[in-house]
Amino acid sequence: MGEPKDNLSIYHFKKLSNLILSTGEMIYFFMLTTTRKSLLYKSGVEYADYCINHVEGCSHGCRFPCYAMMMKKRCGVIKDYNDWLKPKIVSNALELLDQEIPKLKHKIKVVHLCFTTDPFMYQQKEVEDLTLKIIEKLNRDGIRCTVLTKGIYPKALTNTKKYGENNEYAITLVSLDENFKKRYEPFSAPYEPRIKALKYLHDKGLKTWVSMEPYPTPNLVEQNLNKILERIKFVDKIIFGKLNYNVKTSEFEDNKNFYQECAELVIDFCEKNNIERHIKYGTQKKDNKKTERIFRGINMNDKVNLYGVAQARLKI
Ligand code: SF4
Repeated sequence: MGEPKDNLSIYHFKKLSNLILSTGEMIYFFMLTTTRKSLLYKSGVEYADYCINHVEGCSHGCRFPCYAMMMKKRCGVIKDYNDWLKPKIVSNALELLDQEIPKLKHKIKVVHLCFTTDPFMYQQKEVEDLTLKIIEKLNRDGIRCTVLTKGIYPKALTNTKKYGENNEYAITLVSLDENFKKRYEPFSAPYEPRIKALKYLHDKGLKTWVSMEPYPTPNLVEQNLNKILERIKFVDKIIFGKLNYNVKTSEFEDNKNFYQECAELVIDFCEKNNIERHIKYGTQKKDNKKTERIFRGINMNDKVNLYGVAQARLKI
């Protein structure tokens, strides 16, 4: 196999083979690996309790931007965006869990996957396989998981003999416009199969929710929020939040009123459809703190804070 032709993107190469990633100069035929000294860490987020990031990097390559990538870059863990796109699985993750679960299981209420990567990274079979083994291991010890992905949930999760019934599965969904997806989350799963996979878990009786964050302003994509909400009205919970730290959003003059109206629409929709919801702080003109208990901190800003905690603990 030679170097990629100029007009072929990483995505095209990934379609030819799930195992291939390209930096533009080199082609990788296998999933890279790394090792860690510890895996489970205290997240500081009430609903998550503990967290696991069993992959370094993320081939979804979000450009909202991705704060996990920015932090890794700042800390010198990765060189650049291309480096971030080459996920490295933590090859000793299961061994670490075997050591850490017995010590921590009496303290852990719930483990979140993941804050600095994606546990069901699209078309990354090795990541999916490892994630399933981790969930199985945690559930076997009575530890519940919350999971958030921009990938496709495997049907295997409905096997409640292997995986617990009390896990909560979520997707991030901020648009249904595939052109927007190409620009802002170029290598994540297409929207429709992403929703379909979540609906499958819901139909099998599992708890599901959607993170509508970071929601884009109309100068990034013209879209109908109602249509997106209608597609996900089967879920148990919705979190909605504005897009922060993107210069184009602040350039959108009426962004405060826009987000206020969006938030009101989400609240109204959720009330009518009996869905729990939380509007992230800073999205509305006046925050409602009463709903924070259902989704405390599942956004990338928290990922930054949490990553800081993880960094200190893991010395990475
Ligand atoms: S899916 Fe999450 S971790 Fe992966 S690139 Fe996108 S924002 Fe970053």
